[in-house]
Amino acid sequence: MNLQGQHALVTGGGRGIGAAISMALVQNGLKVTITGRDQTTLEQTAMRLGEVGQVHFETCDVTDPSSVSSAFKNASAILGPITILVNNAGQAQSQPFLKTSLDTWKNMLEVNLTGTFLCTQAALPGMLELGWGRIINISSTAGLTGYPYVSAYSAAKHGVIGLTRSLALELARKNITVNAVCPGYTETDIVHEAVQNIVAKTGRSETEARAELTKHNPQARLIHPNEIAETVLWLCNPRSSSITGQAIAIAGGEVMM
Ligand code: NDP
Repeated sequence: MNLQGQHALVTGGGRGIGAAISMALVQNGLKVTITGRDQTTLEQTAMRLGEVGQVHFETCDVTDPSSVSSAFKNASAILGPITILVNNAGQAQSQPFLKTSLDTWKNMLEVNLTGTFLCTQAALPGMLELGWGRIINISSTAGLTGYPYVSAYSAAKHGVIGLTRSLALELARKNITVNAVCPGYTETDIVHEAVQNIVAKTGRSETEARAELTKHNPQARLIHPNEIAETVLWLCNPRSSSITGQAIAIAGGEVMM
């Protein structure tokens, strides 16, 4: 099995961690489909990636079964069967538990967990038919441990790890690996929004707010999206075939409890 020429679909590939993953895959000779809800962002990123390799984009809301189904069908028709799926699309909302509305709860579960379920169901039949595949779910350190004020997000990301571990066992003899990658706070829009949220709600300065986010990381820094991309690339490699059902923290040595 040669990694070059494989078709990888990266949900939420238009920006942040997903865009960094997509760039790493394209640079290593894979064909990449990026998906997301915002067409303009996708167009711009696809243009940038297209200077390096073969890229396609599909607008797709991962919470909508028919949107997922048609995006995956179109992508396969254009770039060939999807053998690598990176479930990266996600959102993070923070609120104290008693202020967490049912809408927020449902949204966190739908985007982060149900989206992973729907996209995996859309891609898996093609991988089974070809007898090879890689499913990589971008969870979070919040999927491995709890943090205050993000109970809905953390519950969804713990769910992603449960799905990963069970599906890995179900597919263990099918040449398909399923792993979760669990970043700590990473320099993207999610973190910029979290900083603004802390500033607005606590009156702290932006520097203090950023320090609040890096305090869990023993290296006292934010993770760079390229660091997540390198781990995803390694998991895609055919030589990583015995690594499955794992939840790999990329968090500067943070101890999860
Ligand atoms: P960004 O906010 O930068 O990007 C999120 C991506 O997800 C965008 O491309 C967005 O595209 C897409 N997305 C959001 N909602 C939907 C939806 N309903 N349907 C389809 N696509 C959607 O976030 P990051 O890059 O930081 O996050 C990527 C992943 O990494 C997420 O799963 C996040 O939970 C996880 N993570 C991030 C951490 C961080 O500190 N940044 C830490 C740990 C985990 P569009 O808006 O166009 O739909």
